[in-house]
Amino acid sequence: MLRTHTCGELKIGDQNKEVTLCGWVQRSRDLGGLTFIDLRDRYGITQLVFNMDSNKPLCEKARQLGREYVISVKGFVAERSNKNPKMSTGDIEIIVNDFTILNDSKTPPFTIEDNTDGGDELRMKYRYLDLRRTVNKTNLELRHKMSVETRIFLNNQNFIEIETPYLIKSTPEGARDFVVPSRMNQGEFYALPQSPQTFKQLLMVAGYDRYFQIVRCFRDEDLRADRQPEFTQIDCEMSFVTRDDILTTFEGLAKHLFKQIKGIDIDGIPVMSYDDAMKFYGSDKPDIRFGMKFVELNPFVKGKGFKVFDEAETVIGICVPGCGDYSRKQLDELTDFVKKPQIGASGLVYVKCNADHTYSSSVSKFFADDDFKKWAEVMNARPNDLILILAGRTEKIYKALGELRLEMGNRLGLRKADDYKPLWVVDFPLLEWDEETNRFYAMHHPFTSPKPEDIPLLDTNPKLVKANAYDLVINGVEIGGGSIRIHNKELQKKMFSILGFTDEDAQKQFGFLMNAFEYGAPPHGGIAFGFDRFCAVFGGSDSIRDFIAFPKNNSGRDVMIDSPATISAEQLKELNIKLL
Ligand code: ASP
Repeated sequence: MLRTHTCGELKIGDQNKEVTLCGWVQRSRDLGGLTFIDLRDRYGITQLVFNMDSNKPLCEKARQLGREYVISVKGFVAERSNKNPKMSTGDIEIIVNDFTILNDSKTPPFTIEDNTDGGDELRMKYRYLDLRRTVNKTNLELRHKMSVETRIFLNNQNFIEIETPYLIKSTPEGARDFVVPSRMNQGEFYALPQSPQTFKQLLMVAGYDRYFQIVRCFRDEDLRADRQPEFTQIDCEMSFVTRDDILTTFEGLAKHLFKQIKGIDIDGIPVMSYDDAMKFYGSDKPDIRFGMKFVELNPFVKGKGFKVFDEAETVIGICVPGCGDYSRKQLDELTDFVKKPQIGASGLVYVKCNADHTYSSSVSKFFADDDFKKWAEVMNARPNDLILILAGRTEKIYKALGELRLEMGNRLGLRKADDYKPLWVVDFPLLEWDEETNRFYAMHHPFTSPKPEDIPLLDTNPKLVKANAYDLVINGVEIGGGSIRIHNKELQKKMFSILGFTDEDAQKQFGFLMNAFEYGAPPHGGIAFGFDRFCAVFGGSDSIRDFIAFPKNNSGRDVMIDSPATISAEQLKELNIKLL
């Protein structure tokens, strides 16, 4: 190695050692007769000292070094007079005897500091410089540890990691495919996998009863902070299991990761039905770090002459503890919040439960204190609490109240980043009806098994059929999802027909899987975790991009390598493709 130590390594015990370090010039300071340089590498920062009195030529040479120059320095470890307890090497500095410039650097377009002056686009363009910043390095280290610990845990549980192909054909996850033209099979295209779903099921047929893969998936969807066109899953499948075996196994994985990465002991992961999640939180991924469960108020509010309630399909509310003293301004803010187009409520009704057991409300013209008392009773509201009520179309206001609940959780500081409350949500509907296209879609994917007791309903009332499916939710973020699969060819056929596939279409798209099911498919099920999201939740961030070395921007572009890009006329010709 060109160095004897890293820049994060030397401590007071190394005093007087002669060392050679290599790294980047983070910053330099000239203080009278002394020049200090912070030398940085992946492991930390070490302070270098040059002394005008003892070695003028070297000190003058050091004063010429620009930011991000790569240098190698030779010197002695000395105790610092001005120690910095915030740095791992803060007790020492290197008295430099000699140094070599290994490479110079242009002045970087933004400062390589945690609080950088570079905007998003600029940092994406120079991502290799952005990655030199400690925040990004910490995130990539976290991701690395997560993948190592995942492999350790699954390996210990007898899972085998098997790679599946990227050049395949359409997968069933319901997003748009990215396609790749085939030169050798002109006019034909591969699709990149939205997930390895069909392959992992084929591996079960092949007898590899515990499979996993940390694998890239590709979905051509509109992007958000927590979506990227290519993202990574911890993809798993098991044979000869029930739902509860899967929940137990992957509760084990979650516990292992919490313990090893965050040092947190998770007792157990509660299980909530999809119906309850929607009923009490208005969301299929409830944040259960705090309460404020929904209470339906229809029986207590109708028929008193308040048109908004009388005409509403549903009236629901939450009780916000300790906010009974909210001011007019604060309540107006909440009303503005629920009226935002993305929330979509038409107004907000409040009841303040005063300390003296009286009530103040925006609807006191229509209701008496006795009414409010009744509402407070059913909502478990106490003096000083604030009741917030929405009325309207059921689906819409459940969603809106879900958002308001999260907003109140934020306002009250109840959504602490270091408080982790994982949750299994189970028994999702199997199918979703789409009004526009007038057909059913699989809520998860078409290989998800109905709950056995609901199979007869497939013929009579498919809307009511529940899936043997589950999601892992952590703090309101969906981290993973999976299901017990259909392993019976007839049932799979029926499912395809409910989803509007003709026999021919089903055979064309998924015939290989249905054929495989004729050769002894074991009962099986699995799950996949969004690995980038898992990392983001552990890293306390909303953005998965921060945990991906080279992410794309919101338009799906990599602005560093400038992709996607046009291809040459020659390449198009080779592929027999004409652009319109
Ligand atoms: N393939 C599914 C997905 O990507 C996960 C699973 O069912 O295992 O969501």
